Amino acid sequence: MLFNLKMFLPDFSIDRVENINLERLKTLGFESIILDLDNTLVSWKTKAITEAVKDWIKKAQSLGFKLCIVSNCLLRGRVKFFSDLLNIPFVFRAIKPRKKAFIDALKILDTVPDKTVVIGDQVFTDVLGGNRMGFLTILVVPVDKREFYITILQRTMEKILLSGPRKKGLIPVFDETSECSVDKRPKTNLTNDSTNEGKK
Ligand SMILES: [Mg+2]
Repeated sequence: MLFNLKMFLPDFSIDRVENINLERLKTLGFESIILDLDNTLVSWKTKAITEAVKDWIKKAQSLGFKLCIVSNCLLRGRVKFFSDLLNIPFVFRAIKPRKKAFIDALKILDTVPDKTVVIGDQVFTDVLGGNRMGFLTILVVPVDKREFYITILQRTMEKILLSGPRKKGLIPVFDETSECSVDKRPKTNLTNDSTNEGKK
């Protein structure tokens, strides 16, 4: 095989971002969440955002998660609009799956890869990029079915790529009982490892 299939597989999947169990992520030791924008938080064409997504983000912030939007969107104004609305920093023109924007986001959030979750709707950008960084990766179902034509092509390839692993149960739904694989488990526990603070 020319590529490592594992790099394209999300650790978990879920229907919508607002259904991701934040308490569970916290219990597992994660402290930061990198969010895709278009078709993950909002429909790619509009500037509307649902109350459910807003509430989920507020909850994440109140639980102490550090959030950052990392978007491949070329329009700074669009990404900044949601950044301001949700009070989350952003990186735009990210060129995911390249690592650079994710590294920039880690700097903004002052965090480390093994305590970071990336949430997105695309295998070839969000999941591949997140896996390359060593983040926990959660794939969501795209908010909007109508998409840019290149994305439609990618969707077909995603389906082909994920259908086998899905049938084998290799992409579980993230819920309140989810466990991380050893290589994605945060190395230090936030709650009882204050002695390690400042070493990263
Ligand atoms: Mg997207």
